[in-house]
Amino acid sequence: RAKSCGKNRFELYSQEQTQSAVEHFSIEQDLGKAIRNDELLLHYQPQFALNGLQLCGYEALVRWQHPEQGFLGPDRFIPVAEDTHLIVPLGWWVIESVCRQLADWQAQGQPLAVVAVNISPQQLLQADFIARLNETLDRYGLEHRWLELEITESTIMQDPDFVIQQLQRVRMCGYHLALDDFGTGYSSLNRIKYLPLNRIKIDKSFVRDIGHNPKDEAVVISAIALGSSLGVEVLAEGVETVEQSQFLERHGCNSVQGYLYGRPMPVEALVSDQMLAGTNP
Ligand code: C2E
Ligand code: MG
Ligand code: MG
Ligand code: MG
Repeated sequence: RAKSCGKNRFELYSQEQTQSAVEHFSIEQDLGKAIRNDELLLHYQPQFALNGLQLCGYEALVRWQHPEQGFLGPDRFIPVAEDTHLIVPLGWWVIESVCRQLADWQAQGQPLAVVAVNISPQQLLQADFIARLNETLDRYGLEHRWLELEITESTIMQDPDFVIQQLQRVRMCGYHLALDDFGTGYSSLNRIKYLPLNRIKIDKSFVRDIGHNPKDEAVVISAIALGSSLGVEVLAEGVETVEQSQFLERHGCNSVQGYLYGRPMPVEALVSDQMLAGTNP
């Protein structure tokens, strides 16, 4: 908009726009350093099977302890990382950290549970992605089945044929594969049937209004039906109430993740809250 207005363009930036441009710049400057200096950290959010409420896995979610700006959630820096390609080293930092954690648990004799990581399309589409993934897990002595890769529908849109091939290789190497934020993207159901998925994660925007909005309930019910007819597990994200949980269980949803069961938390809190694999909440 500003560009087409020629010489008057500077007047058209609001205070807010200017500030967000500045913030974008400093985050970009700092993020590369943050990855190298270990300013990033991971929180783990537990996932539970609805059948018996057994802990069945975790999602690893990145945070940034910024020296000046304090604690930053991923919404503050993941979009910048995506724009600047820093998402690739960031993504490897996450995988490396998760593997180190799993290997620590393994060394302590702690039963393992699958850990899911969010994978950006830029990282997935790298030619050496699978070789490097295998190299990392092998270096830590981990079976590939302990790692789940979460992709979104937007990933599929990039280059459908290549993405599907790449995902088939991922599965052949023994990794789990989940489709995140299901229902929010534009991918067609026709395309989803070609994806070698283990599970679908129903987006929290549909879960939020269970009990209030019959249309959202209808979306949730059909996502569960789709999952079961494709033979993939269905997990609901963002479960905050008992009512939502009961609805999901009644309609055959397999597993849940949400504040009702556990927030994303540092590993030490998993231990103190008894959220380790092999324990019941
Ligand atoms: P996501 O992968 O869909 O992760 C789930 C988000 O829902 C997390 O937000 C989690 O904290 C939040 N959540 C979990 N339970 C509840 C609940 O009961 N209610 C509500 N309202 N929210 C809940 P978070 O940690 O802020 O992450 C936001 C997004 O940032 C993630 O969405 C993911 O897309 C992205 N992200 C996080 N970590 C990474 C990463 O390591 N790599 C990449 N590429 N993206 C990441
Ligand atoms: Mg996710
Ligand atoms: Mg999600
Ligand atoms: Mg998301």
